[in-house]
Amino acid sequence: MKRSSKGSKRKPLPEEVQCPACGGCSFKHKTTVFPFPLPTGKVIDVAGVHVQECLDCHELTPTYEGRMKLARCLETFLSLPG
Ligand SMILES: [Zn+2]
Repeated sequence: MKRSSKGSKRKPLPEEVQCPACGGCSFKHKTTVFPFPLPTGKVIDVAGVHVQECLDCHELTPTYEGRMKLARCLETFLSLPG
């Protein structure tokens, strides 16, 4: 028996709490195809990105998890030859 877990469970994901477009704070979470602009100026569609959709203006903001996925996609893309 081990009881190493300390009861304090912090909120792990620093998510946006306000819509960057309208400042609203009501969101619907979903997984969708997210158009991701590369440093090269090209925009790629990344499927299965966790986003929160503003209920007021329908702006899509990737969640922390979503941003991690986009970062991985970027890494993969940059490591491709040519
Ligand atoms: Zn909004």
